[in-house]
Parts: sequence; structure tokens; C-alpha cells
Amino acid sequence: MMAAAAPEEPVSAPDTGSGGRRAALVINPVKSGTDDVRSAVERIAAEDGWDTPLVIETTEDDPGRGQARQALEAGVDLVIAAGGDGTVRCVAEELAGSDTLMALVPLGTGNLLARNLDIAVDDPGAAVDAAFRGTERKIDVVHVTLDRADTSHVFLVMAGLGFDAAIMSDTRDDLKDKVGWLAYVDAGIRNLPGRPTRVRVSVDGGEPFERHLRSVMGGNCGKIMGGLEIFPGAKIDDGLMDLMTVAPSGRLGWLGVLGNLFTRGRSKDPSVEYFQCHTAEVTLEEPLEVQLDGDPLGKAKHLTFEVKPYSLRLRMPFGYKDPAVVSEPLP
Ligand SMILES: [Mg+2]
Repeated sequence: MMAAAAPEEPVSAPDTGSGGRRAALVINPVKSGTDDVRSAVERIAAEDGWDTPLVIETTEDDPGRGQARQALEAGVDLVIAAGGDGTVRCVAEELAGSDTLMALVPLGTGNLLARNLDIAVDDPGAAVDAAFRGTERKIDVVHVTLDRADTSHVFLVMAGLGFDAAIMSDTRDDLKDKVGWLAYVDAGIRNLPGRPTRVRVSVDGGEPFERHLRSVMGGNCGKIMGGLEIFPGAKIDDGLMDLMTVAPSGRLGWLGVLGNLFTRGRSKDPSVEYFQCHTAEVTLEEPLEVQLDGDPLGKAKHLTFEVKPYSLRLRMPFGYKDPAVVSEPLP
């Protein structure tokens, strides 16, 4: 009897030269610098032997999902989301779970995911370069369902309800441009009056517990602007989401909450509790504002969270990554 030959790995044709790879650029035309981004994408695609990129602009009515779907239908190899956090989130919503690579060119003021991944936030040319020539990682995506809807939304960095979401919809844009995340703190202080809501939380299908809370925040990775680390030890590829409940008591209670953020969770203030989990269910007595990666989505009374580990392929720059963000630094 003849020994069976080792099965040969199927080898795909090299993806270079004409008729090879193609990128799509999903771009928010309202941002400044879009012409430069578009020409950088076309130039690098040409230099590296990619086909002429597909360029699709987002609109107010469709801030990224429809364009990303169009790119998937066209069979592109890479979708570059150029815009603010909203554009990135909407494109990711469509690409999560697919096998298509995503990259980002930050053109907003927040750029939450880019900051976590060391993608240049003030140098679109460098971000475009990393989109084509960087390395690839897989990151977790957290799916959120509001009020038992049929479809879910996603977030990549953080979700919040209550206090935190109120901040996002109330932050003055002019201030946000000047001082970044400090604007969120300012909005937080202006939002101080208000009462806690009774909230029931269940983590990983466990026994629900009740708290009087001002906010619940979900995190997929730890940092927001200025290196402020909201979720200590959170990583974007550990298959876990982080949940923080915030229950300040009285006006001075917020000082404890802020202190907790600034000391990276080391303070033992009981007004903030942290959980790590795969799924979570949150039921509110009264509907509260919900935000995902800074996008206000309106009010909801019931939320489910589910982490889908490694469900988004992402291009990012070569080089050492903060171990606070990803589980393993690159070689
Ligand atoms: Mg995580």
C-alpha cells in the first residue's frame, strides 16, 4: 500500500500586480483634509501595485454601514474608514465577522480606537501608509442590543449609559477641540444634578444584582483621551469586555469617581465597581442615554452586551504596542 502523500496546502495566486488587490476608501466628506487622504490612498495603491481604489463618501443618513456593505459586495481586500469615531464604528459594524481587512485614517477629534492602537491621529499620510503596509491584528468587537431589538450595534472602545452618555451628547464641540477629554469632565460637572437610577446587572448569565447607579460603562480596551485609563488592565484582544458601574453619592461623590479614574482604579472607592465578562445584561428602571464610541444612540431601558472575540481584522502600524492595550506586543 502506498503511503499517502502529504496533503498539499492550497496555494493562492500571489496578490500582486495588476488585477490583484483592491482597497475601498469610505470617507466622511465633511471632515477637513479629505482630498489629501484620497490622493494618498490612490498614490500608495498605485505604488504597491493595487488596483484603483473604490472611493465612497458617507452621508448624514448613512454614516458608514451602507458604504462598507457596498465595499464588501465589490469584493475589496481592504476597507479604509476615514473620518471620526462614528465613521469607524459604522464601518466596523458591517465588517465585524467578515474576513475583510479594515484600516482607519483618523479625521475626527476623539479618534478613540486610533489612540489605543498607536495609529497616527494628526498625520493622515502616515495612517494611510499603515493601512496598506502595516501589520494585521485581530481585535474583539462588542455587540450591544438595545431594548431587545432584532439588530445589534457594535463598539470598539467604550459604551456608556447615563452620566457618560449624557456627557457625550452634551460636550461642547468647541471645548472638545481645544482640550480633548477634559471637555468630558467639564460636561460631567455640568451634568452633576440628577438622580441615580435603579439598575439590575447580570454578568455572564449570573445572578442579577441591583444598584442605584448614575452610569454603567462597557469597555473593550482601556484608554480614552490623554492616556486616561478608564478600565484598568482592559485589552482589545483578550476576549473579554470590562464593565464599570458608577454610583457616586451626592455632589462630592463625583470627586471619588474622578479620583478613581485618575488613579487608574487603584483607589478603593466603593462608588466604582469593575467586572470582566463575556456577556452582560443591564435593565434600567428608567430609560437612559446610550452612547457607543461617542455616538449617541438615544435612550434605552434594556441592554445586552456580547463580546465576539477576534472578530475584526485590522491593519495597524508596525512597532511595539502598549501592552496595556493588546495582549502581546509585536516582535
Ligand atoms: Mg477586552
